[in-house]
Amino acid sequence: MHSGDKVRITLRPAGENAGISFVRADRKECGPIAACAENVSDTTLSTSLGVSGAQIATVEHLMSALWGLGVDNLIVELSGEEVPIMDGSAAPFVAMINSVGIVAQRALKQFIRITREITVHQEDAVATLAPYDGFKAAYTFVADHPVYNRYPKVAELDFSNSSYVDEISRARSFGLVKELPQAQAIHKMLGSSLDNAVGIDDSGVLNDDGLRYQDEFVKHKLLDAIGDLYLLGRPILGAFSGYKSGHALNNKLARALLRCDDAWELTTFEPSAVCQGYPILHPAALSAS
Ligand SMILES: [Zn+2]
Repeated sequence: MHSGDKVRITLRPAGENAGISFVRADRKECGPIAACAENVSDTTLSTSLGVSGAQIATVEHLMSALWGLGVDNLIVELSGEEVPIMDGSAAPFVAMINSVGIVAQRALKQFIRITREITVHQEDAVATLAPYDGFKAAYTFVADHPVYNRYPKVAELDFSNSSYVDEISRARSFGLVKELPQAQAIHKMLGSSLDNAVGIDDSGVLNDDGLRYQDEFVKHKLLDAIGDLYLLGRPILGAFSGYKSGHALNNKLARALLRCDDAWELTTFEPSAVCQGYPILHPAALSAS
């Protein structure tokens, strides 16, 4: 998407509790780069990790797919510096992983449980994590443009009753075509096309087949937030809400949480209590245990 370079991605199994890490196959001298919020080095138009001069750009859609599928441990090997954009959504990563399958490991699955509300701001944008038994995410997309104004700007997803794969993973990146030269002037979006993004001009959506969801724009913002927050290293038990938040504010929220020891705790669940990568937290299940 940003570099315009062709890149090969390979996903390899990792051991129990290894977490997710990225390896640059073209930079053997650099060690693995952990997918963690504190390694984020750039949030301009995407989320990039950087350690000791080695960068891994545009990690958010892959990270989002990994949370959505419940993948905890993985080595992501890249032949260049940017995760391929595929079709601009997380769906190709979901398909790629589902085609080979996911192995259940013996270690208990770990979650970050939010124990008190934490909020960060950036101008008028706001992002919050609050306690919740399960995971839900709400997002309000704010953009004053006649085309955006035709579509829903609020979306909400609760993992207990909706499917990440069906509801979120197919939402593509989007942007105003007139803003492209500005991004390309700073060497971003050099590989952008209607094959990997929804393009919008002043009259409407330019892609021949239109939108995949009526609320594809706001859903993509949720997809991004889920990916950015998975850089916490474990899935969250809590409620996220974002108002105009982007990669920078999502990362600020993750870092703020990690600094506040009293706002979260690690918790584990027996494999029998985990369904599709998420604990079964219905009140009936809790009272029965
Ligand atoms: Zn995105």
